[in-house]
Amino acid sequence: MSKDYYNILGVAENASKADIKKSFRTLAKKYHPDRNQGDKTAEEKFKDISEAYDVLNDEKKRQQYDMMRKYGGSYAGASGPGGFGGGAGGFDFSNMGNGSFRAEDLGGFGSFADIFSSIFGSHGGPGGMGGQARPGRGQRQQPTAARGNDLALKLEVSFEESISGVKKTIALNKPESCKACSGTGAEPGSSQQSCPQCGGRGTISTAQGGFSVSRPCPRCLGRGITPGQTCRVCNGTGSTKVKKKVAVNIPTAVEDGAKIRLRGLGNPGRNGGQNGDLLVTVTVKKHQQFERKGQNIYTSVELSYPQAVLGCKVPVKTLTKTISLSIPAGTEHGTKLRLKGMGLALNGTKGDQYVEINIVVPKKVRAKQKKILEELQEEL
Ligand SMILES: [Zn+2]
Ligand SMILES: [Zn+2]
Repeated sequence: MSKDYYNILGVAENASKADIKKSFRTLAKKYHPDRNQGDKTAEEKFKDISEAYDVLNDEKKRQQYDMMRKYGGSYAGASGPGGFGGGAGGFDFSNMGNGSFRAEDLGGFGSFADIFSSIFGSHGGPGGMGGQARPGRGQRQQPTAARGNDLALKLEVSFEESISGVKKTIALNKPESCKACSGTGAEPGSSQQSCPQCGGRGTISTAQGGFSVSRPCPRCLGRGITPGQTCRVCNGTGSTKVKKKVAVNIPTAVEDGAKIRLRGLGNPGRNGGQNGDLLVTVTVKKHQQFERKGQNIYTSVELSYPQAVLGCKVPVKTLTKTISLSIPAGTEHGTKLRLKGMGLALNGTKGDQYVEINIVVPKKVRAKQKKILEELQEEL
């Protein structure tokens, strides 16, 4: 059973990649589950257009799909070692006859998440897409391409760096696809056989609380095949740890907790799948004087009681310079003075700086001070 992907996306058989993308965007927006809560027809439609886009947007998959349309027969993905016509790799739509659709059949969530974040501008991931992943429905017979996991790390910058932006270099020691064996884990030139542990499926199922849970086969690491001789460079794992320096551009006015996604710098994909991404979470060190909320900057100054009563001038640091701030006579504790336009400049607008007045009461006073205060008290 095969679907007509061209028909589903409403494009011609010779449509360009741009046309396919355009049509997909329009349809995906229209049928997105977030906009069609509980509408089963829309959900099915959404799955169909996602599936169609995944195939037609990928040159290799599209070529094979076109061949299948021409000659009939089942469509096997291009990514696995088996290639066209089955074998150990790719995916076979014939086992999707019950209409269930699993994102993993199409190369993992990665590509979808990317597509959706580019369209809907969210990083919500696949969670909101509704009913796409249903592992365990039907048994997979062939290992598929799987996207590598994302890696995450934290990167601390100073307050000043967060304001100005900065270029940082991170040293990574992360797995990459083994160059000697191209990630297959097999010694180049050695024969390969179907994995005896998983029977070539690449996954093994275990029963857990009434559910059947699939996980990658530990013997063949999801590849479905085991080499006659394992690669000497990676010991058959298909990946080696590589030390790498990566430059990260921290944008100006970056906020604490901001995430920067570095595409393809995560763990390597399996069976020709995409690499994961590296997610860098920026943490901004607390500053002794400045606190930032959006484009506004918050600081404080300490005044003595006479300074507050009589008024004075005090030096106040702003982001760019030190100014002399006039405190009006009779300023109360907790007053916030606004320095207009002294906040963070961003996209043509400027925030303000707020200076909070703290009146400091001395814990100890000398004899002379005490005498003056007592006289003052009588006067008040
Ligand atoms: Zn296996
Ligand atoms: Zn290797």
